[in-house]
Amino acid sequence: MAENLNLFTSTQNVIKEALTKLGYTEEMYELLKEPLRMMTVRIPVKMDDGSVKIFTGYRAQHNDAPGPTKGGVRFHPEVNEEEVKALSMWMTLKAGIVDLPYGGGKGGVVCDPRQLSMREIENISRGYVRAISQIVGPTKDIPAPDVYTNSQIMAWMMDEYSRIREFDSPGFITGKPIALGGSHGREKATAQGVTICIHEAAKKRGIDIKGARVIVQGFGNAGSFLSKFMHDAGAKVVGISDAYGGLYDPDGLDIDYLLDRRDSFGTITTLFENTITNQQLLEMDCDILVPAAISNQITAENADNIQASIVVEAANGPTTFEATKILTERGILLVPDVLASSGGVTVSYFEWVQNNQGYYWTEEEVNKKLHENLTKAFNNIYEVAQTRGVNMRLAAYMVGVRRAAEASKFRGWV
Ligand code: GLU
Repeated sequence: MAENLNLFTSTQNVIKEALTKLGYTEEMYELLKEPLRMMTVRIPVKMDDGSVKIFTGYRAQHNDAPGPTKGGVRFHPEVNEEEVKALSMWMTLKAGIVDLPYGGGKGGVVCDPRQLSMREIENISRGYVRAISQIVGPTKDIPAPDVYTNSQIMAWMMDEYSRIREFDSPGFITGKPIALGGSHGREKATAQGVTICIHEAAKKRGIDIKGARVIVQGFGNAGSFLSKFMHDAGAKVVGISDAYGGLYDPDGLDIDYLLDRRDSFGTITTLFENTITNQQLLEMDCDILVPAAISNQITAENADNIQASIVVEAANGPTTFEATKILTERGILLVPDVLASSGGVTVSYFEWVQNNQGYYWTEEEVNKKLHENLTKAFNNIYEVAQTRGVNMRLAAYMVGVRRAAEASKFRGWV
């Protein structure tokens, strides 16, 4: 039978398994199997050449029982309704894992920012906020950056929302520039969270980070900062990649040089002649493999060829559920996306708290709290996996779904 590469239905399957293991009824699954709300919008934008283009956007709100929904907005040509739905469900899980008072949300606009001017991107960002303004807000649903969106885009969105509401609303969105109420440490937060998970996983496997060989697939926000953190911790980053290919050197790559030369979308390999493909990169020799790019990268096809002993998912959905089973059977420790990439939403929560209080923290305070939250979350999930005899992904789903399920129960929804 062909493997299920559909992120939405495969996420539903694991949520079902997690709820059954936790002893919840079928009705709880019926509630949580898809978002409570899904909005599709069409955004007319005047392009630089004078023409008008209509862009399609989405906002999904999975479950708002624990509190307002929360999650990023991605700008990508392959954004689609099912993907946004699945991503909103993962945000519920992430919030549950790090114990934040949020449900999951997610948004996206079908567009390719690499082909657009800054003015066009600004108009899409503002048009998107106007279109979804009724269902979002600091106490309803709080967007954030995701694939190909950044702090400048958050600033435009915050400005548009504040104009619509006619009062300054920094808590409407997170991942803002520091000058507009952003939090110290937010930009590096996803990579910090992944780093904490790598250190914890390495401890469990008796691997010393100093000298450990690391491959990072993807050189965007998470991948680039992560390569730097690993390099600074004394690991040897032997492989990296971008959307166009990969670089591999068993003696270690010059990360500072690569960071210096990458463009704002993380492109770097186009400057080199001796490149390998992304698929080849995943199968190269290393101790720790970090898929930090896109979904469905490690599948039943290549799971047997992975040489790492630890796989830490910095991207959303890089390993299929079939491949998770294969890796686990092969004794590879897989740290799932909903845990490893939860550093971003954790510091987003800190940003929102600071906005609501109007009192701002130092980077040290942010990092200390992030460290406490993620270390606790990692060890909690590791423990559940050991005691219940399940893999880390199912354990993470069990921990993650519980808060939304309990909150829904207390509210009397199920
Ligand atoms: N887009 C990030 C994620 O998928 C961050 C979400 C947020 O900060 O709300 O986790």
